[in-house]
Amino acid sequence: MNSMSTLANSLIRQGLRGAVGRTPMIRLGRVSEATGCEILAKAEYGNAGGSVKDRAALYLIADAVKRGQLKPGGTVVEGTAGNTGIGLAHLCNALGYKCVIFMPETQSKEKIDLLRVLGATVYPVPAVAYTDPNNYNHQAKRFAEGLENSVWTNQFDNTANRLAHYETTGPEIWEETEGRVDAVAFATGTGGTLAGVGTFLKERNPDVRTFLLDPEGSVLYNYFTHGELKRQGDGSITEGIGQGRVTQNLSGAPVDHALHITDAMAVEHTFRLLHEEGFFVGASSGINVAGAVQAARQMGPGHVIVTCLCDLGQRYYAKLFSRKFLESKNLLTAVPEDYRQWLH
Ligand code: PMP
Repeated sequence: MNSMSTLANSLIRQGLRGAVGRTPMIRLGRVSEATGCEILAKAEYGNAGGSVKDRAALYLIADAVKRGQLKPGGTVVEGTAGNTGIGLAHLCNALGYKCVIFMPETQSKEKIDLLRVLGATVYPVPAVAYTDPNNYNHQAKRFAEGLENSVWTNQFDNTANRLAHYETTGPEIWEETEGRVDAVAFATGTGGTLAGVGTFLKERNPDVRTFLLDPEGSVLYNYFTHGELKRQGDGSITEGIGQGRVTQNLSGAPVDHALHITDAMAVEHTFRLLHEEGFFVGASSGINVAGAVQAARQMGPGHVIVTCLCDLGQRYYAKLFSRKFLESKNLLTAVPEDYRQWLH
């Protein structure tokens, strides 16, 4: 054996950076059969940091380095519901940066614990609206301004986020479906996934339809349906999605349809994914599959609809999979009866 030769081919990923993207494309059998469509999902939990946000995190860091805002040994500061922070923290470890995260204290304990294990400094802050100067994003911005060799990566308004999906997720979907994708359906937090994927696919085929999936308490359903920035419903148990404004990443995005997906639908589909398809994922994946099913029903049989499984259920174990928590939110009945016996 020649120990000096480097083994390199397209099947070998180069370190952590190489382990972001190229996620499996999975056909979901039960919902495909129920709708007569092909419902496919990118397994975004398969990225090295465990979520769809790893792609954005990689591009946000690369953008900061390119602009000269982040130098060796510097600090990445971000406001996040958790997953972008987890992606950034993984990359900071691999690339030699420090990581500081501001996060609404309402987000899951599992994500906060994971961030700390990864070595990030985490500041859980009260969950106040974007208009409040103490909102987690503004706190992250101010913190970075006061620290030398640091950057606030600004995932909501830095369009390096959607570029990640334009350059990676979109082309992967096009290639994996051999150009046969008819529609995509994504829950929206920053809007990076929907805007990047939607823009790329429509450049390839203008007939590809885009569905924005909006949880309770978010304004985007009303914005894209009636032009009003008005909340639909109260807060949601989902994390990382829903929005109170049009971010720069969502601005100008090609959105054909917006669907309001209730927590009850999200919970039902999360548990069907677990017990019928076998995927243990978080509630935004439940929203994604609920939305893909609605899109399939709207478009009729014979279409190829693509969504993603954003992250894994372990990040929400104590809440989403707890009988007591679901009862407290009046959502126990949303779990199909046969599956309630396994709630802890
Ligand atoms: N699902 C989860 C679990 C997330 O954390 C996020 C992003 N915060 C999304 C979906 C939405 O992704 P995007 O920000 O690209 O709209």
